[in-house]
Amino acid sequence: MENQKFTIGIDIGGTNTVSGIVTDDGECVGQTQFLTQECRTIEDFRKKLVSTITQLCLNQKSYGRLAGIGIAAPAARFREGIIQSPANLKWDSVNIVSILQQDFDVPIIVVNDSKAAAVGEKKYGKAKGMSDFIVVTLGTGMGAGIFTGGKLLEGAHDMAGELGHVIVEENGRMCGCRRRGCIETYVSANGIRRTVFELLSLRTEESELRTISYQDLTSEKVHELAKKGDHIALEVLDRTGAYLGAMLANVAVSFDPEAIILTGGVVHSGNFLIDPTIESFNKHLLAQHRAKIPVIASIFRDGEGAIVGVCSLLEGMPNELEQPSSTKRQERVTSTFS
Ligand SMILES: [Zn+2]
Repeated sequence: MENQKFTIGIDIGGTNTVSGIVTDDGECVGQTQFLTQECRTIEDFRKKLVSTITQLCLNQKSYGRLAGIGIAAPAARFREGIIQSPANLKWDSVNIVSILQQDFDVPIIVVNDSKAAAVGEKKYGKAKGMSDFIVVTLGTGMGAGIFTGGKLLEGAHDMAGELGHVIVEENGRMCGCRRRGCIETYVSANGIRRTVFELLSLRTEESELRTISYQDLTSEKVHELAKKGDHIALEVLDRTGAYLGAMLANVAVSFDPEAIILTGGVVHSGNFLIDPTIESFNKHLLAQHRAKIPVIASIFRDGEGAIVGVCSLLEGMPNELEQPSSTKRQERVTSTFS
């Protein structure tokens, strides 16, 4: 027991923040979540996070001591420990690592959620044994973690893989990044919701979607109605898949991956989105890539891939991220990387 240790992984999403204990074997247990959106200020969020982590530590009886905290978040900058002006969160830039370090004297890191999900997929999921693959996360927003030649692509500014903000429509929908026409405004859970209301305003057909308010509408509900044969719901998911498939074909041209793995709540609601996505992907794919790049759904749900991924970085998965310079905290953490 004395030598046993565990880490806590936290996946901060635009809608939910999911936390869980990660054991030495990379298993995520005791998952708990709260609504990110209910935290109006970063101080509210910090309090909620501290009490969640404390509770997880108190509840566990058999995993030993807390050895570190891994945070997966949108717009995370690993080298600085910050979450920088996230498009789908209510706060501006925040140094989440130093905020939590006041309460927990253990190594803490913050990694982009999609990158963390890609690391989780490589270590424990569908990308085991792959060197070149892309994990696309579809939640409140959209992002990607890209592995090329066995290395996670970081970019010069820690921003490689921000595919959600690729502009696909000139003067299109307004995005949380304050620009117009980004693909996440069409294919994320929020994007699906916006497409529903756009179609409802253009059509006269009966649809149960007309009885649901914008606030109450979820992508899961759209899937549920598609299953029942609702025409508007089916068309919304067809349109979403068409956008997403074309985007993935562009990504395939750029990175020549072995596979593309989709993850996030939007993906796991059923095949009504996956099927049109694959159809559009195949339609737009270069001839040389035909039948060579499978588009598959992750085995992980509810942020679990990002949670086990970011915690595996704490525990010393070698060379997935370049060693950052400066600060004692980072030296402490990265000393476990190699
Ligand atoms: Zn954007």
